[in-house]
Amino acid sequence: MPPELPDLNRIAVLGATGSIGTSCLDVIAAHGSRLKAVALTAHRSWEVLAAQCHQHKPHFAVISDPSVRASIGGNAFPSGTEVRFGPEGLEEIASHPEIDTVVCGIVGAAGLRGAWAAVESGKRVAIANKETLVVAGPLVMHLAAKTGACLIPVDSEHSAIFQGLQAGRRRDLKRIVLTASGGPFRGWSKERQEREVTVERALAHPTWQMGPKITVDSATMMNKSLEVIEARWLFDLEIEQIAVTIHPQSIVHSFVEFLDGSVLAQLSPPDMKLPIQYALTYPERWSGTSPTMNWTQPCQLEFLPADFDAFPALKLGFEVAKQGGTCGAVLNAANEVAVGRFLEGKLKFTEIAQACRDILIGHNFDASPTLTDLLRLDGWARQEMQQWKSLQSI
Ligand code: NDP
Ligand code: MG
Repeated sequence: MPPELPDLNRIAVLGATGSIGTSCLDVIAAHGSRLKAVALTAHRSWEVLAAQCHQHKPHFAVISDPSVRASIGGNAFPSGTEVRFGPEGLEEIASHPEIDTVVCGIVGAAGLRGAWAAVESGKRVAIANKETLVVAGPLVMHLAAKTGACLIPVDSEHSAIFQGLQAGRRRDLKRIVLTASGGPFRGWSKERQEREVTVERALAHPTWQMGPKITVDSATMMNKSLEVIEARWLFDLEIEQIAVTIHPQSIVHSFVEFLDGSVLAQLSPPDMKLPIQYALTYPERWSGTSPTMNWTQPCQLEFLPADFDAFPALKLGFEVAKQGGTCGAVLNAANEVAVGRFLEGKLKFTEIAQACRDILIGHNFDASPTLTDLLRLDGWARQEMQQWKSLQSI
């Protein structure tokens, strides 16, 4: 049974200052009579957050990095907004009785804390932060089943699958096919990537405007790996039921295939406002703020096989999704640090996947870890990746 949509959906946007967060606020602003931003959070970008608070007049704002406090002027925030500092504030608002829906738009494993609190308190949870499911998918889904929280994906592929699944009985599902744009280096060999990839090129995604971490993940195709793991737990699938195809136009957001061979797709121009809005209005559909398909213009859609040799990060995702246990937390943490080191010029692009594999192999695998085990391993994998050196540079 889909959850009932309240007449006024009171929303907390975790990561309001990011790419997902600002798109989410655009959606809220466009539907002011039915959607209300009641709480907004940022990590350090307090000026942007303050401007958002002047526009949306939320009751609460959270700045999760408390060290920022000293630099904020007395009148920066509107008088009706209570400002809290520190990561505890994320949990407090994610579980607050004044909130119906929590949008998880924080980047990285830092998003787990707020997402967990939202699931624990049985909210409607619009989950963009795929890392939450990569790190602790089985635990999060188990908790949601217990509390009655409704997890609605925001990631465009998972939103497409969530929508496609409504067309048939769950037991008649054969498999899902996640589409991937292929990123800026689609068609490049590993050798060409080694020679020609720069930070600037990796940050220039051909079809999507996103934050830097996910943009680099799209270039290595680690993003698709994280999405394979996300899909496995979110939709309770066997790894054999998940496939990936390269679709450079980013118009078909994914496919659902049923036992009779019927394949259902969800199409729309690449714009995150659509899946964000759907997560806020489900099971209703409202006229949107995103561009729509123009069928008077020619439109070509291509589907190509994924190149697992040129993009070893993709292979890693399937392996990790199959093994489960502690692998997701280790891969995610190692990748977060590797992406940071790549952006600082301290790691080569092609070393990201290699280093992640090394750290995965070196970890103490546990098939059914607790949340505490996962958080400890997250810290361990981060340290290992900080120290990782390629054989060439030793
Ligand atoms: P951005 O980098 O644009 O924004 C990240 C947000 O998280 C900002 O509000 C930032 O605050 C906040 N933040 C960063 N670090 C912390 C921290 N340690 N603690 C608390 N808050 C923090 O990211 P995106 O919007 O691109 O991505 C957000 C999530 O959504 C990711 O998990 C990504 O994989 C997923 N996603 C994104 C898509 C997109 O189109 N962008 C598409 C599909 C999924 P501050 O501004 O103060 O740094
Ligand atoms: Mg996606």
